[in-house]
Amino acid sequence: MSEHYGFETKAIHAGQTPDPTTGAVVPPIYQVSTYKQDGVGGARGGHDYSRSINPTRTALEECLAELEGGVRGLAFASGMAASDTLLRTLLAPGDHAVIPNDAYGGTFRLYARVLERWGVDHTPVALGDLDAVRAAFQPGRTKVLWIETPTNPMLNIADIAALSTLAHEFGVTVVVDNTFASPYLQQPLALGADVVVHSTTKYLGGHSDVVGGALVTNRTDLAERLYFHQNAMGAVSGPFDAWLVLRGIRTLSVRMERHCDNAEQIVRLLASHADVTDILYPGLSTHPHHDVAARQMKRFGGMVSFRVAGGESRAIDVCNRTHLFTLGESLGGVESLIEHPAAMTHASVAGSLLEVPSDLVRLSVGIETVDDLLADLSQALG
Ligand SMILES: *Cc1c(COP(=O)(O)O)cnc(C)c1O
Repeated sequence: MSEHYGFETKAIHAGQTPDPTTGAVVPPIYQVSTYKQDGVGGARGGHDYSRSINPTRTALEECLAELEGGVRGLAFASGMAASDTLLRTLLAPGDHAVIPNDAYGGTFRLYARVLERWGVDHTPVALGDLDAVRAAFQPGRTKVLWIETPTNPMLNIADIAALSTLAHEFGVTVVVDNTFASPYLQQPLALGADVVVHSTTKYLGGHSDVVGGALVTNRTDLAERLYFHQNAMGAVSGPFDAWLVLRGIRTLSVRMERHCDNAEQIVRLLASHADVTDILYPGLSTHPHHDVAARQMKRFGGMVSFRVAGGESRAIDVCNRTHLFTLGESLGGVESLIEHPAAMTHASVAGSLLEVPSDLVRLSVGIETVDDLLADLSQALG
């Protein structure tokens, strides 16, 4: 696709040329496992079997590669399937990874409960502290630096460019989980990262109707190895799921702008409420890494966390009292969600280094009429 096209044009057209047979403007759902071959060795366009290649998935994969500025995109059955495939491509027994000390709970569980058993260990570090990251690298053993920014649910920010430079000095591959920002707000490959991971379940899909994951890289050597493992391990996106994610992506830019607009107004409301003791949002000038966020993000996203006076019971009470903000896990859909991370999304890290405060409430601010969201949150806070 033409390099000079803007993000929105790529989101709508990359990988999505009208169907050559019918002219259908939307790539069809090729709900098929195998393809008729024109004689032995005569697979049309290499289409031999849908674990290896499927046209609907290819459309999504090409679009993802364009949006992140990579050479190849790969679509998976979930964000965790993408992460697992990536880490088993990059790591072997005896290797070591450095991960955020507030990584997404599922990512932490993958490292701590699955990869550990296969002889891969990890060190959780506060990625805002470059000296601590440098000290955690074990020359020759450390193969992966896992970055997540902004983090879930603490909304911490890591400096992708600075960390990538540092990691590359040690020959360490840099992975960025870009789920919270989406490629509309942040493009890690341009900042020096080697691979981007997405839970496409969230903003890319955007409608809370599909679970999916993706990898994008700008390194051709790695692209080949990742494709080999995608096919060898088989945790691919199904055609209908790929189609749903691609349908979501076409409106990503307008949705993200509205998510950001609404989140900014919610933050203003929270800031004026006496019982809100802390607001975690990278758009606030008081956020410890606001300057880094401002440099590497277009805007600051739709995720807002806050702490309330009155501790855990009050936080749970707020979660139970909203009407429009739906109590639920996940994020990034058009509808607003509220949750209590300590008891819900992050229950699996209770008692570990990654435990989250019990008075924390997390919002995924949707794109409803903002006055309705403000009124709902006001009444829930009392
Ligand atoms: C949800 C999420 C994941 C996991 O993705 P699934 O699609 O649920 O497997 C990974 N990272 C982040 C930041 C997430 O929010």
